[in-house]
Amino acid sequence: MKAKRWPTLALIAPPLMFLQIATEFASLGSVIRPSRPIRLAAEDKLEALRRIDKGRPWSSLDDQLYCTICKRVISGRQIEVVGGTNGLRALHLRCSTPGCPSTPADWILPVKSDIVREIDILFRDNGA
Ligand SMILES: [Zn+2]
Repeated sequence: MKAKRWPTLALIAPPLMFLQIATEFASLGSVIRPSRPIRLAAEDKLEALRRIDKGRPWSSLDDQLYCTICKRVISGRQIEVVGGTNGLRALHLRCSTPGCPSTPADWILPVKSDIVREIDILFRDNGA
């Protein structure tokens, strides 16, 4: 039993060291700014939102979502498009709250938002 302990420890130690180094690099990276938000014209941003966040219709940049991570309502205007210079493929979306690690999967439609009511009103106006 005693003899087996050391090899086991030796196996565990290197990954732990690596993890520590990786974490240091990560924090260093976030100081430097890992991914810069890209400034896009309104229609380009809307297009980016539609392409990247396919689960939602994105009728306008004023569409609002509730971020379940930072508990804030964010609009398409506030959402940051970050990443790739190589077309839209490498782009991804980021919550506007600094340090919020959420992804579009963490955003839900705010249930009691004005937007929902506005859509409801719009439908009534156009429909009947
Ligand atoms: Zn957030």
